[in-house]
Amino acid sequence: MTHYDIVIIGGAIVGSSVAWGLREAGFTGSIALVERDPQFAHAATTLSCASIRQQFSIPENIRLSQFTLGLFRRLKDEFGDDADIAFRENGYLILAGPDGVPVLRQNHQVQSAEGADIVIEDAAALEKRFAWLSAEGIAAGAFGRSGEGWFDSHAYLQLFRRALRTRDVSFVTAGVTAIARQGNKVSAVTLDTGETLSAGTVVNAAGTSAGQVAALAGIALPVEPRKRNVFVFEAKDRFADMPLLVDPSGIYVRPEGSVYITGGAEPYDTDTTADPDDFEPDWSLFEETIWPVLATRIPAFEAIKATRAWAGHYDYNTLDQNAVIGRHPEVENFIFANGFSGHGLQQAPAVGRAVAELIVHGEYRTIDCSVFGYERIAEGRPYRELNVI
Ligand SMILES: Cc1cc2nc3c(=O)[nH]c(=O)nc-3n(C[C@H](O)[C@H](O)[C@H](O)COP(=O)(O)OP(=O)(O)OC[C@H]3O[C@@H](n4cnc5c(N)ncnc54)[C@H](O)[C@@H]3O)c2cc1C
Repeated sequence: MTHYDIVIIGGAIVGSSVAWGLREAGFTGSIALVERDPQFAHAATTLSCASIRQQFSIPENIRLSQFTLGLFRRLKDEFGDDADIAFRENGYLILAGPDGVPVLRQNHQVQSAEGADIVIEDAAALEKRFAWLSAEGIAAGAFGRSGEGWFDSHAYLQLFRRALRTRDVSFVTAGVTAIARQGNKVSAVTLDTGETLSAGTVVNAAGTSAGQVAALAGIALPVEPRKRNVFVFEAKDRFADMPLLVDPSGIYVRPEGSVYITGGAEPYDTDTTADPDDFEPDWSLFEETIWPVLATRIPAFEAIKATRAWAGHYDYNTLDQNAVIGRHPEVENFIFANGFSGHGLQQAPAVGRAVAELIVHGEYRTIDCSVFGYERIAEGRPYRELNVI
């Protein structure tokens, strides 16, 4: 049986970031990064909208994103001169009707206290700033003047994976099918190749499958896949200044090169666990729900043509739509990095740093992630993020 000091289950952005964080923190032990699909065909990482924002409702989520933003700013120093993730810093514009203004203002206070560059403007000011916008039914909007935007998720993942190749990390291509546990310790993982890896510590970075992986160790984790549809459309007009716009209905839209992407139309009352094999886009959402909203909000989008669509799964924490990070309180050598519920891509490098600090130093040093601990899950005590997009 091969032994690794750390076995990370899941090699997409979170697992890769944990391995990277460990080496950055000076960890010299052995690391296995176990991934069943190195093409990442169904990973949330590669099916995401790859956007980053400061507009969260709780300070810790803002801090995690700010850490990643800092990394974006010094990308070439960290990953070499050819590092490029095509970061477009166009901001987010989160719109609110009259009912949504108190929450928008409350969130803005939290964001400003964290140093985020967000302004709140009324409808008239927004229409002046963005000539293509119709502020019908809008009372105010929060706009990120800097520090928010979108990037290339494939290039981003590959930066980490490539960096790990020179940092003595073993890439294991296999699915984990069992986790051995003796009392309050996990000791090994079994692979679908028949091999068993003995493990000093196991890190769950299994994304949308994190609940299943935790269950292999006899641990309940309320993280499940939730299907999210993304539509690509063409429009005659190009708006160079367009941010990622979030309508009060929850529908979002942003430019993507010469086209646009949009989504956020999944009905709340029928949003349940996805069939893990269902990646078929639901086109009726575009026709019936999204298009009428876009045509109202941006009149130039009355004549648009959807050309493509994809569906991915959120790694959805059903308790409070926030991450679960850190050691299991009893099974201490089982570590969570899960449940990001739609904001994990931008948080991954920060989470990698946090988990690494926990392993190497026995404490969080850069960002205190204690609020994301499993204790709240065990106690059924939500720590809710209000801005889940
Ligand atoms: C449509 C959509 C839009 C999104 N938009 C954004 C956004 O704009 N910004 C943002 O920050 N986030 C966004 N997200 C969320 C983000 O993509 C995820 O939170 C993040 O990618 C989670 O990364 P991960 O590495 O934990 O999980 P994943 O990317 O799901 O990867 C988990 C990996 O674990 C592997 N795995 C699972 N089980 C096993 C096993 N038993 N054995 C071996 N390997 C296993 C899988 O094959 C997979 O590669 C979006 C997600 C979706 C679906």
